[in-house]
Amino acid sequence: MSAVSVEEHAAAVEAMLAALGTRTAQRIPLAEALGRVSFEDVRSPVDLPLFRNSQMDGYAVDSRSVATTPVTLPVSTVIAAGPTEAAVLASGSAAKIMTGAPIPDGADAIVPVEDTTVPTVGSVTIERGRAAGAFVREQGSDVRVGTILIEAGRALEPRHISVLAAVGFAEVDVRSRPRVAVVTTGAELVDAGSALTPGQIYDSNGITLAAHLQASGAEVVAVARSSDDPSRFREILDEAAQSAELIITSGGVSMGDFEVVKDVLRPLGGHFGSVRMQPGGPQGMTMFDGIPVLSFPGNPVSTVVSYIMFARNIVRKAAGLSPVLPRTASLHEPVVSAPGRRQLLRGRLRDDGRVELVAGPGSHLVAALAWADVLIDIDSDTTELAAGTDVEVWPL
Ligand code: AMP
Ligand code: MG
Repeated sequence: MSAVSVEEHAAAVEAMLAALGTRTAQRIPLAEALGRVSFEDVRSPVDLPLFRNSQMDGYAVDSRSVATTPVTLPVSTVIAAGPTEAAVLASGSAAKIMTGAPIPDGADAIVPVEDTTVPTVGSVTIERGRAAGAFVREQGSDVRVGTILIEAGRALEPRHISVLAAVGFAEVDVRSRPRVAVVTTGAELVDAGSALTPGQIYDSNGITLAAHLQASGAEVVAVARSSDDPSRFREILDEAAQSAELIITSGGVSMGDFEVVKDVLRPLGGHFGSVRMQPGGPQGMTMFDGIPVLSFPGNPVSTVVSYIMFARNIVRKAAGLSPVLPRTASLHEPVVSAPGRRQLLRGRLRDDGRVELVAGPGSHLVAALAWADVLIDIDSDTTELAAGTDVEVWPL
């Protein structure tokens, strides 16, 4: 792989990751299903409402007995919501009833409590009658048994979880998530939270890639870190390949002396070279023991830009999520760009809808990345753009 375009490399990556798109069903507790994607159409196993019940606190009556009002009726029974025997309304009486309680046979309307008075204990005066069907929730009036509640391929939101619970599902079949391992490399890296010695920095790429992967619907099976020692890196890869369907590495792919990722994977058939983009030029891809390995450069901005340009939408598609697509925004300020490479500049969308640049192009500017919310995509032939020009921006 010598210098190739972003499109060429993206196509090669997509081909290498094709198997990621074949998913199986996974049965999980409903309580863990938020954000997961339904595997197949889900049909209701029951009618909803499950039984005919009252929409109001009030009195269940035969509508004919309240056709002329006011009328006073004996109260034959009180029906609360909850387990109860099937009741029958005694002819010419009213049954006091609570919202959600089953309506007794013989009653066909509910008179809300607001439209009644109690003249003596054991009777009720109906001040305003109700026609047949008033405040009666019929069985199956919401959904009939067998109706599709949720189509295959839906990312489950709280409203979907709600209906699944309402029809009695404790579990749901969802699309299995692509299993991805992240391996960062660099002798200089230590965990955030530990003490630094001179020359050390905190490893931010591991947790960053993991967060991006989770946001894309992946299951992150490991976040590991290797020194620049080839045998250590190889050990970590071997282990990651046990559980992952995709391994993403960061660092060790450029032109320095200790490029552990390139040094280990190239002899195993890996392709390492340069993509005509900035940041994120050095890229690698390898089939390692049947597991695809994508290798991104280690600069934190380069790593994120690489993920967005080459992996995010593939992972999202495998996970069953919709792609994140670029949108158009007009430049708030002029932009200059070096020719021959596609530039992905950090930008921020303003309240006026325009996009402004955030800091400079340096791929080590991790704080500027945090302040940005889009990547401004400048194609490789463009060297200058005036303020007001429409550009494509990728949501970060
Ligand atoms: P490399 O691609 O390994 O040559 O690394 C390029 C730059 O990115 C160097 O300044 C590294 O220290 C830095 N870097 C590499 N990996 C990480 C990481 N996981 N977290 C933060 N910075 C990193
Ligand atoms: Mg390195």
